Amino acid sequence: MTDTLDIKITKIAASRLAETDFSNLPFGKVFADHMFMADYADGEWKNFEILPYGPISLSPAISALHYGQSFFEGIKAYKHADGKVSIFRPDKNAIRFNKSADRLCMPQLPEELFVQTIAALVDIDREWIPGKANHALYIRPFMFATDPYLGVTPSATYKYMVLIGPVGPYFSKPLRVKVETHYTRAAEGGMGYAKAAGNYGASMLPARKAAEEGFDQLIWTDAKEHKYIEEMGAANAMFLLDGVLVTAEAKDTILDGVTRDTVIALAKDWGIPVEERKVSVAELVEGAKNGKLTDAFGAGTAATIASVASISYDSEEYFLSDPATREFSKKVLTTLDDIKYGRSEDTHGWNYMV
Ligand SMILES: *Cc1c(COP(=O)(O)O)cnc(C)c1O
Repeated sequence: MTDTLDIKITKIAASRLAETDFSNLPFGKVFADHMFMADYADGEWKNFEILPYGPISLSPAISALHYGQSFFEGIKAYKHADGKVSIFRPDKNAIRFNKSADRLCMPQLPEELFVQTIAALVDIDREWIPGKANHALYIRPFMFATDPYLGVTPSATYKYMVLIGPVGPYFSKPLRVKVETHYTRAAEGGMGYAKAAGNYGASMLPARKAAEEGFDQLIWTDAKEHKYIEEMGAANAMFLLDGVLVTAEAKDTILDGVTRDTVIALAKDWGIPVEERKVSVAELVEGAKNGKLTDAFGAGTAATIASVASISYDSEEYFLSDPATREFSKKVLTTLDDIKYGRSEDTHGWNYMV
């Protein structure tokens, strides 16, 4: 791909920016003026277009609706104090985008194209990026099947789109989480490693049941024995156990999170041992009891670093240390924020400048 990407641009007649309440930004409900759209047909990507955000017209027979050929990504862009804008590690999301596409028999999108189209859209709506602490522009790239055909077979046509919108903090307080030992998010051989739309539809009933019991989030366990920790809602579960950062290995039931990878890189920078391995519920419960579980959090782009207040298992609730006193996750959060908002040197080259 060259840098002369040919995108047709139709600007909105009147920006909605002035009438948008930036002091009230519920996650995923506020969209910027423009969106990106492209079509896949005849074996190639075409019709690159940036246009005003709004409804699009589709056949009700598209296989995305009937058979779930649909997946997405989640990325954030940040505004620095000097007005510069950066996108956090979009190259990683580009790779994962294609892993998801592959699992769902959907076409690959060249990585440069993914990054360039996102950057072009963010650039057009850069005024929409909040300058406030804990705020960002959320970027939602997605692809779905558009053949108007009810046969259970991969579609020949697809749309790739990108929506963007300003967001504030996702969780407002430390989370009471429940270890799920009945429902399963992903099984070996399944599609847990893909950001497939269907994975999230399947998670809603167990999440609702947990919410009815008063919990904020679930911790998923392995499908076979329900003994090992997998993920926390739509974030990777990470723990500091006896001074070691432990998290589930990013195999086929685990979404290989960019935040997870970033936290691991920081821990290694700081000389903290990291173990990507099977993490049993039993050792966490033991750690909660004997005080060796000194940190626990969900790591994800939307949630950032979401502290776990308590872990419930088998009708027993284990409270952890006060999140305000946790050195590791606090240091991760400040270090990450300093890099994302351009306050400290980006030694890993994580910021993609727009
Ligand atoms: C998106 C997601 C994550 C977090 O990934 P990031 O790249 O850090 O945003 C973790 N688990 C699941 C199931 C997810 O959908």
